[in-house]
Amino acid sequence: MASAETLRFQGFFLPKTGGLSEYRKNHIGHKFNKRLLRLARGTRFNIKFTETNYAEAVAMTQGRELIRQSLETIAQEEIDDIEKKKETRMCQNCQTKKRHLGYRNKNINTAAGTVKVKRLYDECLPCNLPVHAVDEPLGITDYTTGFRSLAVRAGADCSFQKAAENLLFYCGLTIGRMALRKLCYEEAPKMAEWKQKSPEVVTEFTKAPGNVELTIDATKVNTMGGWRDVKVGIYSKRELGESVSPDQWDKRKLPQHTARVAFAAIEKKDRFRNRLSGWRKRLRPGLTGDISALADGADWIWDIVRLEFGKVRECLDVYHALEHLSDISKVFYGKGTAASKKWYESAKQELLSGGFALVVKRLDRLKGAAHTDGERKSLRLLRDYFMNHSARLCYEWHFLTFCDVF
Ligand SMILES: [Zn+2]
Repeated sequence: MASAETLRFQGFFLPKTGGLSEYRKNHIGHKFNKRLLRLARGTRFNIKFTETNYAEAVAMTQGRELIRQSLETIAQEEIDDIEKKKETRMCQNCQTKKRHLGYRNKNINTAAGTVKVKRLYDECLPCNLPVHAVDEPLGITDYTTGFRSLAVRAGADCSFQKAAENLLFYCGLTIGRMALRKLCYEEAPKMAEWKQKSPEVVTEFTKAPGNVELTIDATKVNTMGGWRDVKVGIYSKRELGESVSPDQWDKRKLPQHTARVAFAAIEKKDRFRNRLSGWRKRLRPGLTGDISALADGADWIWDIVRLEFGKVRECLDVYHALEHLSDISKVFYGKGTAASKKWYESAKQELLSGGFALVVKRLDRLKGAAHTDGERKSLRLLRDYFMNHSARLCYEWHFLTFCDVF
């Protein structure tokens, strides 16, 4: 029992054998298990609240086992009920009576552990079709819905190997990383289809309060065909937050989103625009003047935003903008020096409070300090970058009058 081993390693003490009945006997008979307490005192772990910790550990393993047993009984009863029915005795194909070839065991992975059931194995001689008659009407597969939901949740967050370890630790469930990967791949298209067709996605988004924000980004992912760009889009809604002054921008607390619809795909920008457009038609985000768009400096993103929406409140992601300022301060004043830090802090405040108009003056003053071609080139590139996004640097306005994303 690997999960019990893990708990033991953490300083919990579990009975090596014996189920709840043994625990109950010890518990009721002696108020608490004295042998266990001796063990606990002899360990380098300082275990307090011993009786409760013990009961908790038992509940986590033997309690889970009780639920598993209960599920096993229910599953077997459901199978037996179907097998009693006449329909399952006839071949679905030719309507002749099938020949029973005895019972076969089947392991089904549930959220409470693996349950073992047995079901009839039949054969239709004319059709030469061996079948488990109950599999189709009951939809029996290797994994239940509960197991799948846990597995997909775990697998979506980290590597499949790590996810498998998490499932074992948190739920005592055993699954290999490749099987976990397969489950995730099976569920993903179902989720995509549900999102596309389900009316509640649209209803929830429409009735959620707040302003619409549109975020687009791309990142590199490693695929069977090499590294590719995965494009990500999010339509979200959020109520406006409290106004802050630019020097307080990173301490402000933005309200939580009230609704979010995210989508991603490895595809060319034209197809991604179609995807964005499809969601726009479904979600009806309202007047474009009320939409805030956030992205990094990639031109393809702003091209799509403009083509698809026309005029929206565009904003260059503040962290990207600041990263560029930080980089140039290192080029001119060296990495980690007091001078570079000082220059960066002042430049940051100017960008956040005065946008392009203020920060460009600072960059132009820096020209005088450029001695090498490299410095001049870095400065020119940064000036072009800010110039290109000049209308997207209205941070102060966002902080003071319209405290939303950014
Ligand atoms: Zn048949």
